[in-house]
Amino acid sequence: MLEGISIKRNILLNPGPATTTDTVKLAQIVPDICPREKEFGSMMKQMREDLVRIVHGDPKVYTSVLFCGSGTINIDVCLNSLLPKDKKILVVNNGAYSTRAVEICEYYGLEHIDLKFPVDELPDLQVVEETLKADPDIALVHTTHNETGTGILNPIREIGALAHKYGAVFTVDTTSTYAMRPIDIEKENIDFCMASAQKGLMAMTGLSFVIGRKDIIEKSAQYPRRSYYCNLFLQYDFFEKTGEMHFTPPVQTIYSVRQALDEYFAEGEQEKWARHTRVFEAIHKGLEELGFKDVIKRELQAGLVVSVRYPDDENWDFEKVHDYCYERGFTIYPGKISTTNTFRLCALGAIDEEDIVEFFKVLRCALQANNISIPVKYKEC
Ligand SMILES: *Cc1c(COP(=O)(O)O)cnc(C)c1O
Repeated sequence: MLEGISIKRNILLNPGPATTTDTVKLAQIVPDICPREKEFGSMMKQMREDLVRIVHGDPKVYTSVLFCGSGTINIDVCLNSLLPKDKKILVVNNGAYSTRAVEICEYYGLEHIDLKFPVDELPDLQVVEETLKADPDIALVHTTHNETGTGILNPIREIGALAHKYGAVFTVDTTSTYAMRPIDIEKENIDFCMASAQKGLMAMTGLSFVIGRKDIIEKSAQYPRRSYYCNLFLQYDFFEKTGEMHFTPPVQTIYSVRQALDEYFAEGEQEKWARHTRVFEAIHKGLEELGFKDVIKRELQAGLVVSVRYPDDENWDFEKVHDYCYERGFTIYPGKISTTNTFRLCALGAIDEEDIVEFFKVLRCALQANNISIPVKYKEC
C-alpha cells in the first residue's frame, strides 16, 4: 500500500530533529490501535530494554522510563524527581543546555548552585571538587555531555567520579550524544542519562526517555513530589505494574522508534559512530575550503556539532544564506552563544559524506549569490 509514496529528502544540519530514513517515516502509518492493548505494551517493554542496551547498561541495575514530550522533559523529570528534601543540586554549567537545567531549578524553586564556566572551555574539575567538598548538602550533580549550543564535549566520567566521591547522584544530559557517540553508562559513572527519539536514534519527535539506576528511582519514591506529569517514580512504577505508560503515549511515534531501533542495531554502534565522524570531518573540510572559522578548539569538540563564526563581510546575512540553502533542501541553524554571532552545522541524522559534499556546493552558490567574498573574510586573525 505504501509503495510508490515518494517523500522529498531534506538534509537537516540543525541539531535535531534529524534527517530520517523513509522506512522510519513510513513506520508511523499503521492500523489504528488502542495503546492499552497487550500488543502495544509488549512493544514498549522491548523498547525500554533496547534503550538500556544502547548504553550497555546491565538490565538488572538500569532501566529506562519513557515520557511523551521533547528532550527537555527529561531534564525536568530528573531534577524535580531525584532531589531529596532539604538537599541541593550542583549544575556544572558551560553552555545553553546546562543553563536550561538551572532554569528548571529556578522554576521549581530547587536549591541549586549554578557553577558557571566559559562556554568555550571545559569545566575546571578542581573547582567542581572544591564546591562539592564545601557543601555536603549537594545530593545531585547535573551536566551536559555534548553542549549542543557550542559542540563542546564535557568530561563526564571525571565529573561523575567526583559526584560519587562526595555521595551525590550524577545526571547527564546526553540528548545530543546518545545513540551516536558510544556510551557505557557504568564506565562513565552515569546514574541517569537521557535522550529524545528525534536525535541520535533518527526517529520522530514526541518520545523522550530517561535511563538510569532502578534502586535510585525506587528510593526517590520517598522524595518530595514536585510534579505530577513529570515524576520519575510515578511513571516508572506504572510501567512496572502495568507495562503501560501512565498517560497516553505518542502511538505513531513509538512505531517509528521501533523501526529506528531496528535500523540502529542493524547499522551497529561503531559503524554508526564512524559515519557521524565522516560527516563531521566533511563539514570541517568544506568550511575550511570556504575560509570559515569555528569557535571551539577542535580537540574539545564532541564530533557532532560545529559552531561557525559569522564572517566579517558587509554582505553576510544568515537569513539569506539560510533561505537559499533551505530552498534547495539543506537546513542550517543559528548558533546559541550569546557573545559571538555563530551558526551551526551538525552531523546528526541519516546522512553521509556525499550529502555534505552536495551541501557545500549549494553553500558556495549561496555566498556567490549574495556577493559574499570567498574565501570568507574575518577582521582580526
Ligand atoms: C536537543 C537537546 C535537548 C532537548 O531540547 P528540546 O528543545 O526539548 O528538543 C536537551 N539537551 C540537549 C543537550 C539537546 O541537544
